[in-house]
Amino acid sequence: MKKTLNDIQVADKTVLVRVDFNVPLKDGVITDDNRIKAALPTINYLIEKGAKIVLFSHLSRIKEESDKTKKTLAPIAKKLEEISKKSVKFIAQTRGKELESAIKSLKAGEIILFENTRFEDVQNGEVVKYESKNNSELGKYWASLGDVFVNDAFGTAHRAHASNVGIASNIKESCVGFLVQKELEMLAKGIDKPEHPFIAIIGGAKVSDKIGVIDNLLEKADKIIIGGGMAYTFFKAQGHKIGKSLCEEDKVALAKQYLDKANGKIILPIDSANNSDFKDTPPTISGVDLPDDVMGLDIGPKSIKLFEDTLKNAKTVAWNGPMGVFEFNHYNKGTLAVCEAIANLKNAFTLIGGGDSAAAAIQLGFKEKFTHISTGGGASLEYMEGKVLPGVEAIQNK
Ligand code: AMP
Repeated sequence: MKKTLNDIQVADKTVLVRVDFNVPLKDGVITDDNRIKAALPTINYLIEKGAKIVLFSHLSRIKEESDKTKKTLAPIAKKLEEISKKSVKFIAQTRGKELESAIKSLKAGEIILFENTRFEDVQNGEVVKYESKNNSELGKYWASLGDVFVNDAFGTAHRAHASNVGIASNIKESCVGFLVQKELEMLAKGIDKPEHPFIAIIGGAKVSDKIGVIDNLLEKADKIIIGGGMAYTFFKAQGHKIGKSLCEEDKVALAKQYLDKANGKIILPIDSANNSDFKDTPPTISGVDLPDDVMGLDIGPKSIKLFEDTLKNAKTVAWNGPMGVFEFNHYNKGTLAVCEAIANLKNAFTLIGGGDSAAAAIQLGFKEKFTHISTGGGASLEYMEGKVLPGVEAIQNK
């Protein structure tokens, strides 16, 4: 078990907090501030306990010097002030005298936010990736600025960067923040210690992206429902004709291997909503042998019914990936139906592993109806694959 905020003393200490303020920005305006709000429990707790708070985050990617103007955290500092109703001092540096003296003069309960950690990836026009490749000097330097490190950025927990692993490896005391703690508790409950029947639903475009998840969940789940573009590679493995549908030829043999190994655990669609091209016009419905001149863009009505029935008695459901091209109005039916079926389950622990499926559920107004919607697409996917998350692993154990 990793240390949490409740396991450490923070009063009067300089606490370095890696948050996830990687928010969407349009022309310098924040279009969704949920990630800032999600950091408040940790920040408020630290204020209350009298810590000196140093916040930092990445924002998007920095590939060249000119990216830095658009990707400064300055507007985020303002937004945080507005939301938290506390004063937040923004330091437009990732290292240097100004940052060091601002930290030295911090008083209990005060907050600093320093500049985008990924500014360290480009130095004087050269791509050096000090942050993204976990440069050891950088991790040591940042660690030297504080007494305690708190990792509350779940979205980057699957990456070993200087601002998480680098600091954690070079500081006396570290713990996870409340957001990461909750993510880990929920994922452990949903994936590692599920109540049975445990049904997983995996969708999305590519088998290759989800192989690890299928592999790990074949051991843990009672049934794995597979939908989305990846289902057609499985159809092909069963010897069906899939027309012009998405198919990963080099994964057909692997899909067959999984089907054999699954012993009936894998539930595939039984019909398909097709179009002649990749466009949003009304579908034709076929069985799992598709005509040559169409591509499958969603599951059909019989599959929806089959998936709803399969979900009925579930005690745990983990969902990752849409059932079709849900961006198209004519091809979002499968994803909507599955989302609704999970949302309406009574007495089940329901988990969405971030990304498109999380966005779909929130957009549909089902946010409150799921037990947990993960805030980290990549991190929760890797957790579902059974992988260790380096950003968490680097934190001290209790
Ligand atoms: P992923 O990022 O792997 O979860 O995949 C999400 C993407 O898969 C979405 O953009 C969907 O439009 C796409 N997708 C889902 N089903 C299909 C399909 N049958 N054919 C093509 N793309 C699909």
